[in-house]
Amino acid sequence: MPEVKLASEYGFCYGVERALEIVEKMRKKGVEFDTLGPIIHNPQVVAELEKKGIKAVERIYDTPKPYILIRTHGVPPNVYKEAEKLGKKIIDATCPFVANAQKMARKFQDEGYLVVVVGKQHHPEVKGIVGNTNGKAIVVGSGEEAKKVDVRGKKVGVVAQTTVRLDLVQEVISEFLEDAKEVRFANTRCNTTQKRQDETREMAKEVDVMVIVGGKNSSNTRRLYEIAAKNCKRAYHIEKKDELRKEWFYNIDKVGVTGGASTPPEIVREVYEEIKKILFKGGTYGGEKGDGE
Ligand code: SF4
Repeated sequence: MPEVKLASEYGFCYGVERALEIVEKMRKKGVEFDTLGPIIHNPQVVAELEKKGIKAVERIYDTPKPYILIRTHGVPPNVYKEAEKLGKKIIDATCPFVANAQKMARKFQDEGYLVVVVGKQHHPEVKGIVGNTNGKAIVVGSGEEAKKVDVRGKKVGVVAQTTVRLDLVQEVISEFLEDAKEVRFANTRCNTTQKRQDETREMAKEVDVMVIVGGKNSSNTRRLYEIAAKNCKRAYHIEKKDELRKEWFYNIDKVGVTGGASTPPEIVREVYEEIKKILFKGGTYGGEKGDGE
């Protein structure tokens, strides 16, 4: 009989849950606000909020409302100043792990370190961290990029985008060890991310098919998918159960399911239940092959 395994931790992480609680609290108080960018990288959640009248705006002056909510990714300090200039009040839902990365980058900068952020240059979280160093921090996304940073005789302070892989941080740091005068690393990675990545890796090694649930634009979900694809021949990244295809599960023994930190837990659960239906009720196990991919 085939087996469907659900990760022990899936669905909203602490930071996202906290941000959504802040949204609800503010709504109940009757505070009028929009969010600066989508509150989380999940289209269903963003659509739900829109129905409640809370829009994701690109810039602060795009909202006519008196309050603007800063999402978990955080923002550079100039955004707070801009809000003040425009007479808007801030509801700050920056995840505490992200706020810590911003703080550590500022600290390194103040202590005269060359700040290096390991992460994705254009990710909003990284932009917020770099903004906390007056734009001076250097962002590197690979060991190759780290090689190009001139660290000769310098004190280097490394911080990480919260969702970054540990092996990438190690790769970057090892490039600095020979030439830098000193290298310090503030481990600003988030526990949730690490735990989910570890579990995904282990699960992917064990199963025949791995299904990762979450927004296609969610960095942490995509990372889970990358890890799954590296360790399992058949890994799929979907946003909701309708995207499942019977042929993925033809003649297999084990399926693993997990979800990104911005994925509502019920959506992961729905996918898990649907796979069980396909396997046990749909008769795909050892049965007719589907329509092809
Ligand atoms: S994944 Fe971690 S850092 Fe990102 S919002 Fe969730 S708890 Fe915060």
